[in-house]
Amino acid sequence: MLEQSNTGGCLTTSYVMRRFLNEKHSLAKAAIIWIAISSLSVLALAAFEYRSGVQELSDKASATETLLAERLAQHDAHLSALGAVVRMSPAEPSPSIQGLSENILTRYPRIVDIATFRLDAGAARMVRYGQAGGAEAKDMRLLDELPKLSNVGDIAARAVVGEHAYDLFKLVEPGRILRLRIDANALLDGDKTPQDYSTKLTLNNETLALHGATQSAILAATASIIMTSHTQPLEMEIRRKFGVGELVPLRLAIPLIAGLAAITWLAVSYQETQAERRRQEKRAALLKQEATLAHAGRVNALGEMASGIAHELAQPVAAMLSQSQAARRALNMGRQDILEKALDANIREAKRAGDILGRMRAYISGAPADIRMVPLSEAIAEAMRLIEGDIKARGVAVDMIVPLGLPAVPIDVVSFQQVIHNLVRNAADAVAGCSSPLITLEARRERDGVAILVADNGPGIETGSLHRIFEPFFTTKADGMGLGLPLSSRLIERMDGSLEAHNDNGATFIIRLPLGELS
Ligand code: ADP
Repeated sequence: MLEQSNTGGCLTTSYVMRRFLNEKHSLAKAAIIWIAISSLSVLALAAFEYRSGVQELSDKASATETLLAERLAQHDAHLSALGAVVRMSPAEPSPSIQGLSENILTRYPRIVDIATFRLDAGAARMVRYGQAGGAEAKDMRLLDELPKLSNVGDIAARAVVGEHAYDLFKLVEPGRILRLRIDANALLDGDKTPQDYSTKLTLNNETLALHGATQSAILAATASIIMTSHTQPLEMEIRRKFGVGELVPLRLAIPLIAGLAAITWLAVSYQETQAERRRQEKRAALLKQEATLAHAGRVNALGEMASGIAHELAQPVAAMLSQSQAARRALNMGRQDILEKALDANIREAKRAGDILGRMRAYISGAPADIRMVPLSEAIAEAMRLIEGDIKARGVAVDMIVPLGLPAVPIDVVSFQQVIHNLVRNAADAVAGCSSPLITLEARRERDGVAILVADNGPGIETGSLHRIFEPFFTTKADGMGLGLPLSSRLIERMDGSLEAHNDNGATFIIRLPLGELS
């Protein structure tokens, strides 16, 4: 049993190893699938976030365009209103212009300055309005600051270099120009620029205002606005930057990746379970097939077994015959004691014959051997007791070497007795005619079990027959059946043991049996 349990241990170990490797394999497979799916999902998520970011940018650009258009229209309206008041005020500084200007500057903080220019032969007189201290007049020599406006009503816009502002000039009447100065930062509400945005406002390729994010980003999108106002042809660029955290927000990415890990693991486990189920089914089908074949083998061996039964029963029947004859003689002689002995022997032989038949039936039907733990020395003594009378009668000496303390072994007692009986009887056959016929029966403990040797000092197994003696019906005896050894071999195999033979000053047969789990 030790060998079996060792084998079982190996099988268990290799099964565990296989499972471990399988599981490792599944883990690696799940990890690869998970990484691939997660990467694709993260990319898809980033694409989705980018798309919504671009949409947001586009919405913001159109809102900004609407707001700008509204404000530019207001500037045109202020120019018209102020122009009308200027025309009605031939003398300057004019309180009417000052009043309206104060009003405009207060209500529209992005308009930072209002001024009029009266042109006069290469010079101009500038009057600034709307300041708290009142209108302020100033003479100017250089007129390059003023645009050339030829027709009354003409408007021109010009960037004020270095001041984030632009001027709007209008020729309100010949020789009189009105100017509005607009703060570009205030026009854009630059301080309200969201964190990820940056804006750039230009007028005739001059940058008026720059706002917003300066940090680097892995991705950006830009929207351009070109104002259709013919008086203030402003252009604007709105840029939206995308950081990694924005494209792949952790609050979405972590549950997504974790969810994908769980789904992948479940899918791979399910696949593995299905594969394992298919393997089990295949194994079960194979086992069934093997069992069918084994049964067929046993049925085929039926003829062989029938001969075996006859062979095995020959001994007890012969013994019963001679004991019965002895009993009859004892009866005639009135020897009660011999009669009783003979009848006891008959009962014993009849029981043995019954046991042999029972085992044969069990063997043919595939029933398991009746394995029990039996002390080896007891099993050997019992087997020898059954045969020793016959051996002694043939004048053969038996040398028993059975040390004390041999372990119990898992055997089918009747089968074991049959095997010992076959081997000893063969040995007795072999030594018949020898000068000092001797059979040695030795039992010993070995590393993984026990060995029982049945040796004789006969001529040994014929050269060339050694490999055939376990074949059914192989015999070199005139009255032999050639079934004793094949049957013995089978019976020993059913006890997980083995039977082998070799020549060594005669023939030696070795039965090897494993130790039981409890030995
Ligand atoms: P049988 O005894 O009917 O011949 P077995 O199967 O028991 O059938 O034995 C097969 C053959 O093995 C024998 O015929 C004999 O040639 C050989 N054999 C068995 N035991 C011995 C032995 N102890 N010494 C020599 N030959 C043996």
